[in-house]
Amino acid sequence: MQSAATLLQDVFGFSAFRPGQEEIVQTVAQGTNTLAIMPTGGGKSLCYQLPALLRDGVTVVISPLIALMRDQVRALRAAGVEAGALTSGNTEEETQAVWDALDDGRLKLLYIAPERLAAGSAMGMLRRIGVNLIAVDEAHCVSQWGHDFRPDYLRIGELRRALDVPLAAFTATADAETRAEIVEKLFEGQQPETFLRGFDRPNITLAFSAKDSPRQQILSFAAARKGQSGIVYCGTRAKTETLARALREDGHSACHYHGGMDPDDRRHVEHRFSTEDGLVVVATIAFGMGVDKPDIRWVAHADLPKSIEAYYQEIGRAGRDGAPADTLTLFGPDDIRLRRSQIDEGLAPPERRAADHARLNALLGLAETHACRRQALLRYFGEDPAPCDNCDTCATPPETFDGTQDVRKALSAILRTDEFFGAGHLIDILTGNETDKIRARGHDGLPTFGVGRDTDRRTWQGIFRQMMGCDLIRPDPERHGALRMTERAIPILKGEDQITLRRDTLAPKSRRPAAKT
Ligand code: ADP
Ligand code: ZN
Repeated sequence: MQSAATLLQDVFGFSAFRPGQEEIVQTVAQGTNTLAIMPTGGGKSLCYQLPALLRDGVTVVISPLIALMRDQVRALRAAGVEAGALTSGNTEEETQAVWDALDDGRLKLLYIAPERLAAGSAMGMLRRIGVNLIAVDEAHCVSQWGHDFRPDYLRIGELRRALDVPLAAFTATADAETRAEIVEKLFEGQQPETFLRGFDRPNITLAFSAKDSPRQQILSFAAARKGQSGIVYCGTRAKTETLARALREDGHSACHYHGGMDPDDRRHVEHRFSTEDGLVVVATIAFGMGVDKPDIRWVAHADLPKSIEAYYQEIGRAGRDGAPADTLTLFGPDDIRLRRSQIDEGLAPPERRAADHARLNALLGLAETHACRRQALLRYFGEDPAPCDNCDTCATPPETFDGTQDVRKALSAILRTDEFFGAGHLIDILTGNETDKIRARGHDGLPTFGVGRDTDRRTWQGIFRQMMGCDLIRPDPERHGALRMTERAIPILKGEDQITLRRDTLAPKSRRPAAKT
């Protein structure tokens, strides 16, 4: 059987779990009754789709939103997963295809609308087909006091009893009454395993630095933490070896770890790391999945991780014991080029590549934000906390300037082109660059064409990244990474609010040869 991590990569195309997903996936896959409360956009669907693939038999997914079910079925089928939906929106052929797949025992996920449960035949059918898990999306719909009450949701408890299989319920609504009602109505009062953890890890200090002398930067970060267990993540295998050597020369107990090493050597490093105090492991991302050491005091990234999810997962290995832990992530133009080319040269289909670029962009936005990093990070995962006082930008606010005019120009270019384009094309519009694409789309006739001429391209790129970091715009993974405006941008566009940008990351100190593009 394939592991959760392999399926995550091969079927869903994700390199890392989002906060909380891994534990939920494991619990649901084991067949434990589960209630998971996750913010919208946190990645709930994966928490039942992946267990459905890990378990034998059919997983029934109950969801109130037909459009959403259809989208999910389409996406799963595109990824090669046998999924089908029975909803009132089906054509006859669609329904027949679902039945055929069920009869052949091929179907893994069956989405059904709650009103289907009212039909007498549904129970009998679900009994016959070998259901092995019930997943309930938007579980708060069972609450009679909420806005979204769906009477048919009350039948789910009955269904669970009739089928006698585990149930996993998901919602973004966290208040205690709703939770209690879900437990009562769906689990008949038996307490399920409950996941209600915000994504924040308040004991972890967040910091980013532009790379100027990377080896020295890592060495001095480690020197200030000598004797503590830490991990340094590197982008290449070769670098793990040279950096581990440099750390040893600096008096650390350090070793390297990567996927190219022989399994015995790797196990040896894992063993040493978990049993010794104060070992530094310099590793590629191959190190981590199986590492369960609570007192890792620091994690440094010598190279930029590949996505905001990967960043969160990797720094999240520090400080599991709740005691303070430090992180430092270095980034520079070479990292960005390397990560981009890895995505472009990968074997993934175009939509997936666009989504990977979007996740990298989100990380770059975080790297360049002038505001609280934790706030930027958690907003990406759907939470909205106050500034943290435990990150580098909270500790030393960087030099800033009033970017309202520039941001309004950028937003207006986005709106006038119907939120359909990525940063490259938008910057062509702003700087008045008459490319073929600009001419073909008639964008040289837009009022925003050329309004940002006095600012160079590189600065515009930085402004777009910062806008992302402040969550004014988001790349839409479903639309090839086209930039869309968020609600936060509206007051700025209307002139009701101002926006501050960070100056230091727009005008990099170290000069490097221009990128070949
Ligand atoms: P919700 O919690 O609102 O139901 P979804 O399940 O629709 O969220 O997921 C929100 C977005 O996050 C989707 O675009 C999905 O592809 C993406 N996503 C989910 N899990 C991951 C992951 N582990 N890595 C990267 N992206 C993810
Ligand atoms: Zn902060």
